[in-house]
Amino acid sequence: MSPAENQDKRPIVVVGGGFAGASFALAAAGPECPVQVVEAFVQEAGDDGFDARSTALSWGTRGIFESLGVWDELGAAPCPIHRIEVTDQGHLGGVGFDRREQGQEALGYVVENHALGKVLQERLAASKHIDVLAPANVVSARPVPEGMELNVRQDGNEQALTAALTVLADGGRSPIAAQLGIGRQLKSYGQHALVANIALEKAHRNIAYERFTEHGPLAVLPLPTVEGVHRASLVWTLPEALAREYLELAEDELLPLLQQDFGPGMGRVDGIGRRACFPLQLSRAGEQARPGLALLGNAAHTLHPVAGQGFNLALRDCVALAGVVREAANRGQWPGDMAVLQGYIDAQEFDQEKTILFTDLLVGLFSGRSAARSAFRRLGLLALDLLPPLRRRFVSNAMGLGSF
Ligand SMILES: Cc1cc2nc3c(=O)[nH]c(=O)nc-3n(C[C@H](O)[C@H](O)[C@H](O)COP(=O)(O)OP(=O)(O)OC[C@H]3O[C@@H](n4cnc5c(N)ncnc54)[C@H](O)[C@@H]3O)c2cc1C
Repeated sequence: MSPAENQDKRPIVVVGGGFAGASFALAAAGPECPVQVVEAFVQEAGDDGFDARSTALSWGTRGIFESLGVWDELGAAPCPIHRIEVTDQGHLGGVGFDRREQGQEALGYVVENHALGKVLQERLAASKHIDVLAPANVVSARPVPEGMELNVRQDGNEQALTAALTVLADGGRSPIAAQLGIGRQLKSYGQHALVANIALEKAHRNIAYERFTEHGPLAVLPLPTVEGVHRASLVWTLPEALAREYLELAEDELLPLLQQDFGPGMGRVDGIGRRACFPLQLSRAGEQARPGLALLGNAAHTLHPVAGQGFNLALRDCVALAGVVREAANRGQWPGDMAVLQGYIDAQEFDQEKTILFTDLLVGLFSGRSAARSAFRRLGLLALDLLPPLRRRFVSNAMGLGSF
């Protein structure tokens, strides 16, 4: 029996219910398209405090989340970005991007990961067409004529699932992709991101700061004020050894070092919450689709966070894949058909290439203190400052709206 004739009751199985897996499931699920999400962890009830990671969401992402019913549920959790100020340590001036110039209510938003994760999980649980298996681990996968057979371990028991289409959204290491012989192209940036929430002396006025320091880019993103504390999310790019050292430093030793890299622009940093450290690399799967299989999110491509594009791109991929898969299911076609999946690859190829190139160029341009690179960087900032059309285009791209 061909997969098309045989797929009626078999679900799409999403391996990994992180941001990418959950978003894809919400976008794809429907009466003709049942989805099962297998997730290894169950998120603890989030606290509203000081120690969470955050994600910058583009204006385009807001639109997608609105259509998925996620945005309204987020309520006041996303903090709007009204202005972005980019400066180069040791040099006067810089460039500013303002929402008024873009004619938008905000250039983007910053949301704490625990708040977004909670809403995504609630939406998954509320869907009639999505079944969540958690905590449960997909331990192996093998192609079968009907799609893919997955072995799932839960509570010490193993069960086999046959998926019409398996969507691997199991993160940057994607052990299942490796098991299936899908390789990765890796480019290490030799940097780590130290991530923490910080408390600021002054209100941030919805300004995001990107500062290029001798160690690498440092981003400070505005968060909602909680109990009178002006909060922001810090992503501090550092060489690996320094990042590891800074993870262990006492707060009163670390704050002056942060202030030194941070500069005076935003006033005093009064406190820093729990720190976490992430190695930074560009990683791309050698293949994003095979018959019965597709890769999404970090499993497909992991980007440097300098431009805050990783999840925003992943979400555009999720919606594009969900669209072709749903259409196929609605007309009774096997959603894992390579012709269907190729439609997705073709639709997203340009967006992926452009976003990856944009991010990689920024990393190259804004890391390193050589005289040539520094001069080139200042020239770039000056050009953006002096040429409003170029600036608008640059921001539009970063907002997930336009293209170069
Ligand atoms: C420091 C930093 C800052 C960032 N800032 C931004 C930003 O501002 N804006 C932006 O757009 N992007 C940002 N990103 C990128 C963003 O975090 C990622 O794009 C996003 O988290 C990708 O999520 P994912 O669902 O693909 O992967 P993950 O978050 O890794 O989720 C994978 C999930 O799969 C589950 N899993 C794994 N294996 C299995 C298995 N075998 N069985 C079942 N479940 C499994 C895991 O438990 C996990 O929940 C940043 C990244 C970093 C490192």
